[in-house]
Amino acid sequence: MNLRILWMYHDLMDLYGDKGNIQVLKTRCAKRGIDCSVDTCTIGEKKDPADYDLFFMGGGADREQNLIYEDLIARKEDIRRAMDERTAFLLICGGYQLFGQYYRDQDGSEIQGLGFFDYYTIAADRDHRCIGNIAVETVIDGVSMKAVGFENHGGQTQNVSSPFARVLSGHGNMYRSEYEGFMNDQVLATYMHGPLLPKNPGIADQIIRRALKKRSGEVTLADLDDTLEISARNIMLDRLKVSH
Ligand code: GLN
Repeated sequence: MNLRILWMYHDLMDLYGDKGNIQVLKTRCAKRGIDCSVDTCTIGEKKDPADYDLFFMGGGADREQNLIYEDLIARKEDIRRAMDERTAFLLICGGYQLFGQYYRDQDGSEIQGLGFFDYYTIAADRDHRCIGNIAVETVIDGVSMKAVGFENHGGQTQNVSSPFARVLSGHGNMYRSEYEGFMNDQVLATYMHGPLLPKNPGIADQIIRRALKKRSGEVTLADLDDTLEISARNIMLDRLKVSH
């Protein structure tokens, strides 16, 4: 069995250790004897997302989003085809925002998103920036779990039809909001950096399972020893006064 990952804008969209998500996917696959290959793709490079099982895009500040969005929009039909062909998607923060309608920054200038989903993002003033550790509760394909991460975004994402998680502590899609991220059966998009997958091995495995589904169908992944990761998560839940 093998897993092919396309890591978009690896050189520009990478905040707060987002690259650690790739490392975790590789390591968890290797421990199970799943061959995992990672290709990177940045501005101007030719890669067909439909050739891959997982499309990963990390977060980036307004500056980086401005640098990449035209290149991203130019790939819209290729990305749509990847979606049609059941590629899984993991999108963090700035990447999450750019799959919606638009992102409007604090000065009111707007960049277009891919428009695949109805949500849109408008930056708040400095007093309403969403910064800090976050804890959420989610159900991914029938598996419920608590997850922790770190968020730092001015963008307030509205009109999200199906959020990724319910916020237990922190902000989420908007300043002090109830919900976090966007999710459907193929796309998981979240504000959670930190990075997401090292802190939440349960999410990592759901991403691997979703990605493998494209070519291998429904697979059962062997359990790994996550004692250390789970105790690290529990320490953060304690700090945020959230039950395990
Ligand atoms: N520039 C966006 C915002 O502040 C995204 C930031 C990020 O990816 N952390 O809302």
